[in-house]
Amino acid sequence: MAHPLRLESEILELRTRHPFIIARGGQSDYRTVMVRLIDGDGVEGWGEAAPNRIYGESVETVHGALQNYSDRLPSDPFLLEDAEAGWESILALNPSARVALSSALHDLVGKRLGIPVYKLWGLDPAKAPRSTFTIGIDNDAKLRQKVKEAEQYPILKIKLGTDRDVEILETIRGMTQKELRVDANCGWSVKQAIRMLPVLEEFGVTVLEQPLAAEDLEGLGKVSRASRIPVIADESCKTAADIPPLVGKVDGINLKLAKCGSLREALRMIAIARAHQMMVMIGCMIESSIAITAAAHLTPLVDIVDLDGAALLQDDPFVGASIDGGQVRLPTGPGLGLSRR
Ligand code: MG
Repeated sequence: MAHPLRLESEILELRTRHPFIIARGGQSDYRTVMVRLIDGDGVEGWGEAAPNRIYGESVETVHGALQNYSDRLPSDPFLLEDAEAGWESILALNPSARVALSSALHDLVGKRLGIPVYKLWGLDPAKAPRSTFTIGIDNDAKLRQKVKEAEQYPILKIKLGTDRDVEILETIRGMTQKELRVDANCGWSVKQAIRMLPVLEEFGVTVLEQPLAAEDLEGLGKVSRASRIPVIADESCKTAADIPPLVGKVDGINLKLAKCGSLREALRMIAIARAHQMMVMIGCMIESSIAITAAAHLTPLVDIVDLDGAALLQDDPFVGASIDGGQVRLPTGPGLGLSRR
């Protein structure tokens, strides 16, 4: 019997408007992998893998993983739970490759049913919080230019974790009264983080993301206890299994599809975090509107949205969810609601 689903993939070459620099470095050119699942009637579901070296992935590992997964495409695309479990049983790592398939399958199922994915989950898109827009690490002049260019966005996320963090905050606060959130991307020690807390308060920072190294959960506990600003775990929290050890150590988690490996795992993470009264943030990688849109369908369930990955690009090859003016707008078409630009 011919297999009802076919998998195709292509590399997307993406370029950010400015080099995107965070505490551990950065660049302008990014490669992601678009995945298409095509059924016997020619209906296509789309997904995107945005591999990240710090989670052990590259475009090459994504291609290798997709080859393995292509032998385990579900005969019934509606069996989302079984399909995702099957992929995880073959290769449990490779989360960006798996989430590309998971997104494509959800897109396909939504199209077959004629409804958007958020509707499949019973969600109201009007409940989506506003998205931040990120200002990467840069010199003073470039920071000013970026803050100007980000005029339409009401909430800025500032990348820190450098030896000139106070200067960066001074420059940005000197230009705008907008809400500011901070992400140190593992760049501080416990001592540095605790020293920065009153500074962050002085500048009116409302959220502090991943001040310490990913594995330093005890340190995160110390910082959170000393902080009046909520502390969110990003690099320390990849999948649902990472949440219980973080209970009492941080105020919330930053969920990203490229870390957790599937849309259903994302839903599980939200449920587990909520059971522990933790805040939920949804973030992204530098990626096109395919991956951003898959994440955007979850935004009615979260407190903090940081889905600027496609907004930071020079040319986004796809049209899907948007964050113009910080407002998350979900497409209303079936599935993920994506089209090529
Ligand atoms: Mg982060």
